[in-house]
Amino acid sequence: MLLRHTSTNVVERNALTVNPAKTCQPIGAMYAALGIHRCLPHSHGSQGCCAYHRSTLTRHYKEPVMAGTSSFTEGSSVFGGQSNLLQALDNLFTVYDPDVVAVHTTCLSETIGDDIPQIADKAREKGLIPAGKYVIHANTPSYAGSHVTGFSTMVRAMVDYLAEPSAAKTQAVNIIPGWVEPSDMREIKRLCWQMGVEATVFPDTSDVLDAPQTGEYEFYPKGGVTVGELKQTGSAMATLALGHTASSAAARALDTKCGVPCEILDLPIGLSATDRFVDALRRTTNVTVPQYVEDERGRVVDIVTDMHQYFSGRRVALWGDPDQLVSLTEFLVDLDMRPVYIVTGTPGKKFLKRIDKALDGRVPEAKVRQGPGADMFLMHQWIKNEPVDLLIGNTYGKYISRDDGIPLIRHGFPILDRIGHSYFPTVGYAGAMRLLEKILDAVLSREDRESPEESFELVM
Ligand code: SF4
Repeated sequence: MLLRHTSTNVVERNALTVNPAKTCQPIGAMYAALGIHRCLPHSHGSQGCCAYHRSTLTRHYKEPVMAGTSSFTEGSSVFGGQSNLLQALDNLFTVYDPDVVAVHTTCLSETIGDDIPQIADKAREKGLIPAGKYVIHANTPSYAGSHVTGFSTMVRAMVDYLAEPSAAKTQAVNIIPGWVEPSDMREIKRLCWQMGVEATVFPDTSDVLDAPQTGEYEFYPKGGVTVGELKQTGSAMATLALGHTASSAAARALDTKCGVPCEILDLPIGLSATDRFVDALRRTTNVTVPQYVEDERGRVVDIVTDMHQYFSGRRVALWGDPDQLVSLTEFLVDLDMRPVYIVTGTPGKKFLKRIDKALDGRVPEAKVRQGPGADMFLMHQWIKNEPVDLLIGNTYGKYISRDDGIPLIRHGFPILDRIGHSYFPTVGYAGAMRLLEKILDAVLSREDRESPEESFELVM
């Protein structure tokens, strides 16, 4: 009953966020950097920031997350962090031998105004960066944007620093998967493999943050896109970027830098968005969609038709990242459900327009908010005024779930108190089946638990 004092009286707030539906930029930059093979993320700021970012990723993935920190003290806060970063780069390359150090900034180093490319140039001049090794960087001030912004900026940095232009194009496509789980990246690769599409997925955290237990600790797990593969993204025939907020910046940068045309798609979560992704793969690479993939789609449609009566009309509240919310909303509308409350703390253009399109005019009562005031407190107030049947969002929703007795499906970032997200995808047709199972399980378990004795049945 932690949130029992949430008031039903909704007051417009201009300068206060309560329980934000986002977290800070460097977490996204760190997550993206871990999707490069033999990359060591580095936090240019105080130790506390780095500890928070590492621990949140570690708690979400249940895997050790390694990163360096410039360990700012009072002195570096006043005079700048150049000497700390130079020392850090020397230590990191000498002791840990990464192929890439991916530096991201924090609120403090951004406020000071440290110029990371200039410091990296100085490190190279001083011979602190060995030949064949790379330092890339992303500016990630957390007083703007969110973890998704940080992710997007670091993915763009991979293009800016490493992609190499080439006049001769190959048959490969680049896929920028957006902020999804390692399981989702694995599923995207599986779908490409089934369709006979040669794809470079970047970043790729599969086999990094879902690495198998072998009894041996590997500082650099086997997964991740390699530097060589990142260089070759400039030779690809096309780029498919999944998720407008997280992936479009990198895709457009690659087009500008290397002349690789791009198509920006929604995250392939749910039936319609996966259909569009599969169709884009088919059109771009001129392959035929194999029967196996069509059968998988058919199984999704079968579940939807078999269980339609349990989906229809259920009211859902969602919070999280814009790209995930757009695709989830479309999927829920496809299921004849009613996504009535949708909030994201991540700013960004066109989110409201995209949600509007996903709602397709079929949920006129839907309330959608984005930005600083779009927090979980507001969403809880809406729920208190008019309840919902289901919550879909990260672990922080468990307080609302407990307070109001509403089932919660954990989806998005962070999920700190359950496993599964690293191992089972929610993208593609396989992911759609998993989501359908989770929704049905949540809705029907509640009916089994709460329906009165006289209407309790073997099959509800
Ligand atoms: S909000 Fe800023 S100061 Fe706080 S942890 Fe994030 S980067 Fe560090």
